[in-house]
Amino acid sequence: MTEAWRPDDEDERRGAVGPVKVRVPAKVNLHLGVGPLRRDGYHELNTVYHAISIYDELTARRGDTLALTMEGEGTGELALDDSNLVIRAAHALAGYAGVLPHARLHLRKQIPLAGGLAGGSADAAAALVACDALWGTGLSRDELAGIAADLGSDVPFLIYGGTALGTGRGEAVSPVLVRPTSWHWVVAIADGGLSTPAAYRELDRLRDSGAAGDPLGSTDALLGALRQRDPRVLARTLGNDLQDAALAMRPALADTLKAGEAAGALTGIVSGSGPTCVFLAADAANAERIAAELSSAGVCRQARVAHGPVAGARVI
Ligand code: C5P
Repeated sequence: MTEAWRPDDEDERRGAVGPVKVRVPAKVNLHLGVGPLRRDGYHELNTVYHAISIYDELTARRGDTLALTMEGEGTGELALDDSNLVIRAAHALAGYAGVLPHARLHLRKQIPLAGGLAGGSADAAAALVACDALWGTGLSRDELAGIAADLGSDVPFLIYGGTALGTGRGEAVSPVLVRPTSWHWVVAIADGGLSTPAAYRELDRLRDSGAAGDPLGSTDALLGALRQRDPRVLARTLGNDLQDAALAMRPALADTLKAGEAAGALTGIVSGSGPTCVFLAADAANAERIAAELSSAGVCRQARVAHGPVAGARVI
């Protein structure tokens, strides 16, 4: 717990009067090394997170209760009750800061559900940042990331954004400091999602039966490639231990990966637990061409260009 609520502190007590709008990015894993299954049901990870320019937006307004509405990706499918990560995040922050969890929250979603882009985690990070501003609780990013870790393994990263190393179950995040470079991506969004726990279980099954590829190991090659700032070099070092599992669960993803590379991508990988595939392009113009070809090839629901790294959840 941090300091208790201080009603005599005008600045903190006031919070925001008008609506607070927060933008939060999707994430991809440039390297997703999955270690053994731990006793707590999580896998030890060695990952490099990267925030890309596909965004959800959360608006928080003052209210007498806590309520969530939404539009965009997943509307009608995503429960808006206490099971929703946005609501859970608001409760977690209110409990931590000792304030009432009262807000009217509205989510505009572009990040697909269960897509391997951490959309739900992004929304939880957005809720922490938005409610912190609305309620004037004034927590630091590190404090918000501490609360975020209990909500999901990817949530702390989405508080920070950029490019960062993730260890533990993914919740222990440290920034990767490199000279700023913008990488150009094409994001192929599939029809329907894949369950993250199911993808991890499938990887364990493949490993037990000796059918999984060699584990990725260290992030050194990838971190070296990020410093060189050459997309051709970076392309050789991207990797995802969950890819075999995602391909076993959704064999058609192999066609998506092939189509992206045939369209000129330097390489393509499954994002996180899938089924979204991400392709690295040589430059912005190439990314546009690859996205157009993927869209007409019928191997995904939607192909979008994106760049990264971008900031994490921020008030706009
Ligand atoms: O942390 P989060 O709630 O997002 O994780 C969802 C599920 O993904 C976990 O319940 C677990 O089955 C799986 N997971 C895992 N190892 C990790 C992260 C997630 O096995 N490091």
